Amino acid sequence: MQKILIIEDERDIADLVGFNLERAGYEVLKAHDGITGADMAIQLRPDLVILDLMLPGKDGYRVFKDLRRDTRSSGIPVIMLTARAQTEDRIQGLEAGADDYLTKPFSPKELMLRVQAVLKRSDGPPGLVEFSYGPFRFDKNALKFYLDGATVELTSTEFKLLLFLTERAGKAQDRNDLLRTVWGYSDEVHSRTLDTHMKRLRQKLGEHAAMVETVRGIGYCVSSH
Ligand code: CA
Repeated sequence: MQKILIIEDERDIADLVGFNLERAGYEVLKAHDGITGADMAIQLRPDLVILDLMLPGKDGYRVFKDLRRDTRSSGIPVIMLTARAQTEDRIQGLEAGADDYLTKPFSPKELMLRVQAVLKRSDGPPGLVEFSYGPFRFDKNALKFYLDGATVELTSTEFKLLLFLTERAGKAQDRNDLLRTVWGYSDEVHSRTLDTHMKRLRQKLGEHAAMVETVRGIGYCVSSH
């Protein structure tokens, strides 16, 4: 059974989300402040964290940074929740590296769709478990990425983007195809953050950054070698 940790100080929202997730067959853990939430995520390693941004003790962005810094939790997908509906806040959340974002109020149905999409993404595609290309090696089961044989920590979103491009190396991939593959749909907010994710991905590729090319007017391409 997949475990989902909800970090949310508003107990009625935490209970509503928890009720819907349990009904869908997930095991639910809850924390009502940022400090407890970060500890639980790192110690208990859930399959997914649903993280409210406005939290007592430690705000959601700081919790998120703690999770990404610790190797025990750095690969756990995170869906951020916030009452703030402004586009800039959503972009900030996605740019920080969150896997997805939900604005309150949201419907239980919308939440479940996002949860399923994020968990499916981090499950990795079926088929070949290991895939190598030039200096890249992907372990799709463990969601691990190796560059010249050394582990590089990628978020599940970065992993999926790079894998999608690498499996189609030499062919430019359209922005909308990338958005639909990684987030399940394309919209303006996600389109703007695609470039941020690609930028961060290139930083992590170091001397091999040039293998990920920007194709003007289309999208991105991993160069053939
Ligand atoms: Ca809150």
